[in-house]
Amino acid sequence: MIKKQLLAMFILLFISGCTNKTSEEKQNDAKPAEYALVIHGGAGNVTPERIPPEKEAEYRAVLQQALNLGSEWLKNDSPSVAVVEAVIQLMENSPLFNAGKGAVFNAEGKIEHDASIMDGNQMKAGAVASVNTIKNPISAARLVMEKSPHVMMVREGAIQFARENGLEIVDSSYFFTQERYNDLLRLQGKIEKYGTVGCVALDKKGNIAAGTSTGGMSNKKYGRIGDAPIIGAGTYASNATCGVSCTGHGEFFIRYNVAADVSARMKYGNQSLQKASEDIINELFQKEGMGGLIALDKLGNISMPFNTDGMFRGYTKANGENKVLLFKEK
Ligand code: ASP
Repeated sequence: MIKKQLLAMFILLFISGCTNKTSEEKQNDAKPAEYALVIHGGAGNVTPERIPPEKEAEYRAVLQQALNLGSEWLKNDSPSVAVVEAVIQLMENSPLFNAGKGAVFNAEGKIEHDASIMDGNQMKAGAVASVNTIKNPISAARLVMEKSPHVMMVREGAIQFARENGLEIVDSSYFFTQERYNDLLRLQGKIEKYGTVGCVALDKKGNIAAGTSTGGMSNKKYGRIGDAPIIGAGTYASNATCGVSCTGHGEFFIRYNVAADVSARMKYGNQSLQKASEDIINELFQKEGMGGLIALDKLGNISMPFNTDGMFRGYTKANGENKVLLFKEK
């Protein structure tokens, strides 16, 4: 009798041990998402005190529009690369984010955009840096990936290539926003980062793509290029592991090769997406490298860690899950 009771207890303990999983493990066991999308609009001093309610509503609205556009395209079988480009274009066209129209000024009061895109199916990538008249730098990055034998093109050459391939070229005055100019005047010699945009998508065929677009850091030195156009630093995608887009103090993300490191920790260390990405952002914090990232794995798991006050971010999945977040909210 006692033996039987002991056996029953043992079986119960064994079963509860098997089912008592952390939420992260449960997420990783979940059925793969048919498609999924995650976006960011930059990390920084994003607090309810610094962002008035009307502005907060504007941010939430544009982030939701971007998610709606992306999920509509994914639902209609669009490939992840096209989705990443379209979603980033939408955010580049908004003056709210530090990319495209809303790009920050360098120390000379000029605009210098950086952008990149990576196709995790074919392991192809494209990037442009230090461009100032291409309306949508993310589209130029895609052109470099698809229509040139190269990965990165800069300045006049990149602009000429974009023009020759029919992209919209605008006068650099298109990128003037009073708010960004005031930021530059306010900084008086200090450098600040804020508001890069990024997107990672998993399409119905299981292909992952990632992209990032930025005006860089406000008050940066002429010619400075950040992590956003550097494959492996600010952007990375591989169908075997994940897609990643970073935002924050670019010099740190370049030196720690952050985006590719998330993938490497998963590939070689067998780590989950959550663990790999959260550990990196915590480690950067120890080195005073401020920022965050968005990442998505082949099952559609999402991770959005940051070590700043907040990060404009959101995700959506085929099962209807949808979130837009700004602050340290869950
Ligand atoms: N990472 C960007 C850069 O350093 C800036 C940002 O994400 O806010 O250029």
